[in-house]
Amino acid sequence: MVSSEEYNDVYKLVKMRSDISREEFDNLVRDLMNKTEGKLSPRAAAIIVARRFGVESYDLFYPPIIGRIVEVGPVRYTKGTQERTPFVLFSIVDERRRVLGVAFGEHNVEILRSNEDNVIMIRGYTKMRLEKYSGIKVTENSVIEILDDTTLPPITELKPAWAESLKFVMEHRGAWLVKAIVLEEITSEYSACPLCGKGVEMVEDSWYCPEHGQIDQPVTERIWRYLLADSSGVFQAIYFKEPPKDRLKDKEVIIKAYSKDEEIYIMRFYDVLETEIVMSE
Ligand SMILES: [Zn+2]
Repeated sequence: MVSSEEYNDVYKLVKMRSDISREEFDNLVRDLMNKTEGKLSPRAAAIIVARRFGVESYDLFYPPIIGRIVEVGPVRYTKGTQERTPFVLFSIVDERRRVLGVAFGEHNVEILRSNEDNVIMIRGYTKMRLEKYSGIKVTENSVIEILDDTTLPPITELKPAWAESLKFVMEHRGAWLVKAIVLEEITSEYSACPLCGKGVEMVEDSWYCPEHGQIDQPVTERIWRYLLADSSGVFQAIYFKEPPKDRLKDKEVIIKAYSKDEEIYIMRFYDVLETEIVMSE
């Protein structure tokens, strides 16, 4: 009787593509071992059998990664005289880890940018160094698949998505979930590009968007500024969309945020906790 322990990971890859039971798979492995008269270990035989079920060699070197997209950076372009390829930096999280990646190609960029917080599976990536971190490289030969949302717990329950404090958000790259108390809030209006919402500038008699150039007529948008606090300090934050409640002052909130130029940018609100933080006089 052969030990089937040593190819658990191979069977897992097969199981992602087929309904074959463990017992049936073990039988196929044993048949092949018998046929090759002891030239193959159980693991080697399992790898050969797995080919029949569409397991690609890249799956064996770099097993598929499953995670929620916690952040996707702005679209950038490779330099060069030929066709410019768009790419983005992104991070995904599961229960155990946060994986930083770079994805090349219009299709990959589009999938990542339209699926924030959703569960994806990446196959056919390779490893690479990204800034100071080790990460993964997703190319046009890789496959990104959207998985059912129940594949992983909600993002608020995935520990690697969380920053330990606001100070941590200020000192680390990337987007993080964090809990904070809103000490103060103010709102103001600004003139924005109707296409992208960025602030526009008036030059002589015309409006200019940094992205779209000259535009006819700006729209009026609101910006919210907050003083956020936790045990690590008090920090300024900005938010560009409609807040979840008219009044957040003195409330505790769960947000996703990143830091830039000494300020915290709030990407989204997950929850406004009903606990009364500040005692009324
Ligand atoms: Zn614009």
